[in-house]
Amino acid sequence: MHRNATEAQIDAVCKRIEDAGNTANVLPGATRTAVAITGNETGIAAERFLGMPGVIDCVAVTNACRLVSREMHPQRTLVDVRGVTIGDGNCTTIAGPCAIESRDQAFRSAEIVAASGAKLFRGGAFKPRTSPYSFQGLKHEGLKLLDDVKREFDLRIVTEVRDSETLDAVELVADVLQIGARNMQNYSLLEAVGKRRTPVLLKRGAGCTLNELFLAAEYILSLGNKQVILCERGIRTFETMTRNTFDISAIVMIRHHTHLPVIADPSHGVGIGWAVPPMAKAAVVAGADGVMVEVHPQPWSALSDGQQALTPEAYAQLVREMNELAAWRSKQPTVIPAQ
Ligand code: PEP
Ligand code: MN
Repeated sequence: MHRNATEAQIDAVCKRIEDAGNTANVLPGATRTAVAITGNETGIAAERFLGMPGVIDCVAVTNACRLVSREMHPQRTLVDVRGVTIGDGNCTTIAGPCAIESRDQAFRSAEIVAASGAKLFRGGAFKPRTSPYSFQGLKHEGLKLLDDVKREFDLRIVTEVRDSETLDAVELVADVLQIGARNMQNYSLLEAVGKRRTPVLLKRGAGCTLNELFLAAEYILSLGNKQVILCERGIRTFETMTRNTFDISAIVMIRHHTHLPVIADPSHGVGIGWAVPPMAKAAVVAGADGVMVEVHPQPWSALSDGQQALTPEAYAQLVREMNELAAWRSKQPTVIPAQ
């Protein structure tokens, strides 16, 4: 409260707290009085008090991310993707083309990914593109091809769900539902996947803070779906040389502040094929629970994101190097501390 706040103003604040079913604790100080709220299950919006006469500031003590934060849930979440565990200290590779383009392209990509030993295959059927004139994905036909890949290879499918209308169809094929960066704050879509039980890969919006990412994940967890993986895919900064600025510190911060696994996506992070491997390796060293990279049998002929796709050779080399780093990492307790 303001140092000149009157008794009546303090009483009005207490009444508003108590009318909401919580307890007001008046704490008189040397120069001003504070009123602490207790008994609240969730955070209380500061706007409910900031406009009241005599109120000078509201300080949040309750963590609004009560389901996502590690403080409230110290045990790390393990995400089970049809028998493959993400978050157990290993580094999972997710790879595949940006978009599914044809049967031949999908199968050739899947062969490359399976041959590397990776168990998770990525590929978009519904592509959210910046321009309405760009390739939008093969949609339902793309889902069918992903289903064929799933039957043919020992691979789990990671694919984007762009809206609630197509969620049923995507979920029939997806082992992991990807929420793209552009949809990180699409709250009706977050609620829709929160009601499902398929694991979700939630990508950080290009203009979103980590706290906003955590709150987006909180939507999903609060509706009952606890199988959430967070993904750093680069943010928009003043730098123009790279597609985005790949925020490696996000990997460390996510692991520190939450119990959810974190996947790094250096492909969208830098957007330049030759720059992807060093960033991918840096992400492994930083402690990522997995790395998702775009690979294409012929990057120069890709219908989307060809400039950042790895060639089959570059991809195979990267997987070998990442495996070496993951083995090194497992011996460094400071990178992935025990539970
Ligand atoms: C993608 O994974 O191909 C994609 C569209 O990513 P983002 O949502 O991060 O841009
Ligand atoms: Mn892409």
